[in-house]
Amino acid sequence: MIQFQYTRATETKAAIDAISKDRSSMFIAGGTNLVDLMKRGIMMPERIVDISRLPLNQISSDDKLLKIGSLALNSAVAENKLVQQKQPLLAQALNAGASAQIRNMATVGGNMLQRTRCHYFYDTSLPCNKREPGSGCGALEGFNRMHAIFGFSDKCIAVHPSDMSVALVALDASVLVDGPRGQRRIPFIDLHRLPGDKPEIDTNLMAGELILGVEIPENTFAKNVYYLKVRDRASYAFALVSVAVALQIEKKVIKDARLALGGVAHKPWRLTEAERSLIGKPVSEFSFQQAAQIAMKGAKGFKYNEFKLKLAPNSIVQALKVASKLV
Ligand code: SF4
Repeated sequence: MIQFQYTRATETKAAIDAISKDRSSMFIAGGTNLVDLMKRGIMMPERIVDISRLPLNQISSDDKLLKIGSLALNSAVAENKLVQQKQPLLAQALNAGASAQIRNMATVGGNMLQRTRCHYFYDTSLPCNKREPGSGCGALEGFNRMHAIFGFSDKCIAVHPSDMSVALVALDASVLVDGPRGQRRIPFIDLHRLPGDKPEIDTNLMAGELILGVEIPENTFAKNVYYLKVRDRASYAFALVSVAVALQIEKKVIKDARLALGGVAHKPWRLTEAERSLIGKPVSEFSFQQAAQIAMKGAKGFKYNEFKLKLAPNSIVQALKVASKLV
């Protein structure tokens, strides 16, 4: 274990000040990812600022937004009545993530900021541009079964591991952040970035910014949602492919649609063209097959993950069938 200083923040401003003054500092809340990374010598902050006591765990709603504080626990959000009634897709995605023990520790903010589970990233004896920029990408020519089929670069082909984030991007959520330059809202789709030439940077957060919470606009999807996660075992495994589906259906015709994939890119992968293709179509296997074909435009597999090129469209069709109650 590395040496580090520990500070506990009791106010948001103090937490932001502490991080802003010292680039080697990091926030910690549930610690379910950061502590692992520190134990393995992958991340080595000189100071960690414990934000777990900040008053950021409320869940509330008005007629426009469901608001969830960044320190709300994953389990508390998944079990919350407002979330289950208004945004059941989010509850499903949260319950698909990790194990019950981890959901009881992990926060919403930490969930969206968790780092990739690429095994080359976690093994410090192997090259990894995300861990050590310029060292190479072991996964490109290595065992890349879990890796991306969309949006990758020649520097990194890792995927983002969060299930919750796939639902949030489908639901048009926004993230409220505070930082040295004040508060701002980031559309969830812009929170995470593609690897490009800088795979070491996961998000578009600016230095010193703290996530205060997430806001999900009201919608008419509650009756027809489904989060499908395909993985190697039933619990505590990351997605090979996951699909978040939300539909508004009237008289067996699709009036509105949201679709996103997980386990396929460096960020949650929203499928807007496929969504548009569904609007006005009847609820049918044919409509869903067409949408899945559109969704896969631009996908490319690597040696060990070519199976995702079939698994992803099949999963999209299956998730659409379940969400629309066709099966
Ligand atoms: Fe590192 Fe990304 Fe390559 Fe994995 S895919 S080894 S995280 S650079």
